[in-house]
Order: sequence, then structure tokens, then C-alpha cells
Amino acid sequence: MANYDVIIIGAGPGGYVAAIRAAKNGLKTAVVEQEKRLGGTCLLRGCIPTKALLHAADVLTVVKSAKDIGIDVELKGIDFQKVQKSRSKAIQKSAAGVSYLMKQNNIEVLVGHGELVNEHEVVVHDTTSEKQNHQAQHIIIATGSRPQQLSFLKVDGHQIVTSDEILELTAIPKSLLVLGAGAVGIEFASLFKRLGSSEVTVIEMLNHILPLEDEEVSFELEHALTKRGIKILTKAKLEKAEVVGDEVHAQVALKEGEPQLLKAEMLLVAVGRTPQTQNLGLDNVNIKTDKAGYIEVDEFMRTSVRNIYAIGDIVRTIALAHVASAEGILAADHAAHKHCYPLKYNQMPSAVYAQPEVASVGLSEHAAREAGYDVKVAKFPFAASGKARILGQTEGFIKIVGEQKYGEVLGVHIIGPHATELISEAGVGLRLEITSEELAQVVHAHPTISEVVAEAAHILNGQALHI
Ligand code: FAD
Repeated sequence: MANYDVIIIGAGPGGYVAAIRAAKNGLKTAVVEQEKRLGGTCLLRGCIPTKALLHAADVLTVVKSAKDIGIDVELKGIDFQKVQKSRSKAIQKSAAGVSYLMKQNNIEVLVGHGELVNEHEVVVHDTTSEKQNHQAQHIIIATGSRPQQLSFLKVDGHQIVTSDEILELTAIPKSLLVLGAGAVGIEFASLFKRLGSSEVTVIEMLNHILPLEDEEVSFELEHALTKRGIKILTKAKLEKAEVVGDEVHAQVALKEGEPQLLKAEMLLVAVGRTPQTQNLGLDNVNIKTDKAGYIEVDEFMRTSVRNIYAIGDIVRTIALAHVASAEGILAADHAAHKHCYPLKYNQMPSAVYAQPEVASVGLSEHAAREAGYDVKVAKFPFAASGKARILGQTEGFIKIVGEQKYGEVLGVHIIGPHATELISEAGVGLRLEITSEELAQVVHAHPTISEVVAEAAHILNGQALHI
């Protein structure tokens, strides 16, 4: 039986980053992974493949608009097989990169399904049903999540699909229904509409799309997507869906209006994720979970069994890759007895790679008011940015939510070009508890898209410049 300082179960962005950090902290480390390739959902079926496909859609958009600035190109069409090949290549290279990092840091990769035997022991079942037991001082559970399914809706993997299957398509669906208007649903709706699906309809039960974002941003995106021909049904409940020949028929009840029967080639179910705890042996060690199966942790990611940590999508924090990685670093530092600070979840950025992009960090206006702040808000439109005009991408705005007394910036919300990159500057600001006055003093290069950050800060200080 091999002995380690730390064994990590799951090699997604939570697990493999925790492994690297543990090894760098001088701990003898092993990571258990049941898939052939490392990288988890993010790398194999999430962040990387979706953004590879979305990149193709972005290029297509640029090519289509080239003639607006006098570039005469002939668009012959989309070779979707090649688009998919380039997605596979991006995954392949990234997965190989993770394997290389494991070797580089002397991390043992144990291939197979990991199960807890007791609080210091993990059994790894490999594909040939062989099993090997391993011991460790600390264990980090990083087994992630899988697509949530609905009891009344059977996913057949062909016409009724989740994000796992839709990534593997060999042809662009002519029409698509998307159930759920969170980041995943919205990204696929934006992707396939741009790649050529003639009808894309998003069905969302709540009042607006991207329900976690600032309301004004959600409404702006809804407007932008509708302009692009995507049909958005909010306050809409899918009651029934069935495959009828080569179509999916979906019965949708609307809070306002008559029920609708929608027909499409495919239905994407994007209603969230569920924690992956099957055959993990949680009962063998009495690790506490909540009703939905998420593992309960303290501020240092320790479970109810103190030498066992849980990180990433398996815990009820924000289900994003960078959050999983940050939690992995925290758990690995804590296990190495380093001085640690709990994570500040209200400073985690979120990003949606639709067109236009959406990104945010910190409190929405509504959340800031709910939290009791005396709130002030500033908005600067991309239409007033010189660089945005050059790019021909003038949709959207940046919105800064601040508090009156000290001018502290509480939240930044962006919809528009490069929002997903711009948000990092806001993240630094929030981390340093920046005020709008300090933010306005940061001189931004001209002409850049990032100038909108300072422009909005000036507005918050009551000293608007270019508007
Ligand atoms: P995972 O990435 O799910 O990894 C868990 C790993 O554990 C898997 O490799 C699994 O095989 C392995 N495993 C599970 N059980 C066992 C076991 N018992 N033994 C051995 N191995 C096991 N996040 C972003 O930040 N940005 C994005 O743009 C983004 N896009 C996304 C797009 C889609 C379509 C989806 C579905 C998700 C996206 N996410 C994105 C979310 C992101 O993928 C997850 O938050 C992230 O992967 C969670 O990391 P994790 O390490 O907790 O789990």
C-alpha cells in the first residue's frame, strides 16, 4: 500500500491545481482520475471546448462584418467537421499540458475510480476491476459535477441532449430549444444562432435570463439576443417534451400568455449541475452532505472529517473553474499548515461568452441595496468609446455600483466587447477595496476598450468626461 501526504480524488481544475500546489508545498501527492484524460469537465466538456466553438462563431461574425470596413471577403460556408477538429485539438493540447504538469511536479496519477475506505485510505478501482489501496494524511475530494436532469424529461443523447452531447454534434442543428438561461444555456444559444441554426428559442422559468447577473445587464443581453433572432421566453415553464419523428415537441406554459407548443430538431437541457458523489464512499467516513448531495465544508474547505477537504463543484460554492482552482490552492495550503485566509466569494468574477459578452464581479445594484448600502450607480455606454466604435462593437455598457459615504466600489458589471477580459481589472480593484476616486485616477491607455472603466468611475464621482 502506497503512502502519500495528500491524495486528491478528481483531476479537474479544482483537483489538478490542488495537486500542483500540494506538490509545490513539499507534500508527496497523488491524484486519482477515472477518465483517460486529465482536466475534468472544464477542459473536456466545459470551458475549453465551448470557448473553442464560440471562437469559431466570433471569427464568422468578424468575417461577415468585414465588408463594412471595406474588406471584401467571400464566405464559402462553415466546415463544421473542421470546427469540431479544432475544438478537439484545443482539448488534446490542454489535457496533454495537464499531464505534463503532473510529471513536472512529481505527482503520481492513479488512473481509476477513487473511493474512500476510511479517513486515511482510498481504494482505486481501475478499468480491469483491479483495485489498489493507498493511504494519505490528507484527502481532497474534487469529483465535480454532471448535468442535472429533470425527472419528467428523458435525455436520449440525440434529440434531447445535455451540454455533454451537444458538444459532440457533427452538424449544426437547424432549430434548437434551450431549456435554462444560465451561462451554459445562453452560450449555446448564442453559438448555434451565429453558426447558422435558423430558429433558436430559450425557455427560462425566472423573470429574466442570466438570473444571477445585475438586472440591467440581463435585460440588455435579452435585447441584444432578440435582435440577433433568438427567441427568449421568460416566466416560461417546460411542462412536457417528447420526440416525435425527427422533431422534439415541447409544451411550454407561460405566466403571461397562452401555452405554446414549440417544435425543434433538438432540445438542450441546461438546467444546472448536480454533485458527483456516486460510489465515492462518503458514508464509509460519515462526511456530511446537504440535501442536494453537496459536501459541507468550513471556510478552509475542510469537511466534517477534519483531514478530508472538498473543493470545486462538489461543494455548494460558485460552480466555476477558477473558483474550484482557488479552493484547491486553499485546501492544499491548509493541508501543508500554511497561514491561510478564507476566500472572498463576493470577489469571484463571472463571465458569459455570448455575443455581446457579459462579465461581473461583486454586488449587483439590487444585492447592494438589499445588503443595506447607500448605493450610487454609474453607467458608461460602449457607444461613447472611441475604440468600441473602431471595432464596430458599440452595444452594451459598464455599470459600477458604489457606496455613497467612502465611494467604495462594490460591484462592476459589463456587457459589451471584451467584457470577460475587462472584468479582471475590476477584480483587482475590489480585492484592494478601491474607491471610485482611486479607480478614476488609474490612467488607461488610449484608445482602448478598458478606458470605459475609468469613464464610469469619473461618472460615479460626478465628473463625467465623454458623455
Ligand atoms: P470537474 O471539472 O467536474 O472535475 C472532476 C473530475 O473528477 C472529473 O475529471 C471526473 O472524471 C473526476 N472524478 C469524479 N468522480 C471520481 C472518482 N470517484 N474517482 C476518480 N475521479 C473522479 N467554468 C468557468 O469558470 N468558465 C467557463 O467558461 C465555464 N464554461 C463551462 C461550460 C460548460 C458547458 C460547463 C458544463 C461548465 C462550464 N464551466 C465553466 C464550469 C466548470 O467546468 C466547472 O466549474 C469546473 O470544471 C469544476 O471543476 P472541478 O474540479 O470541481 O470538477
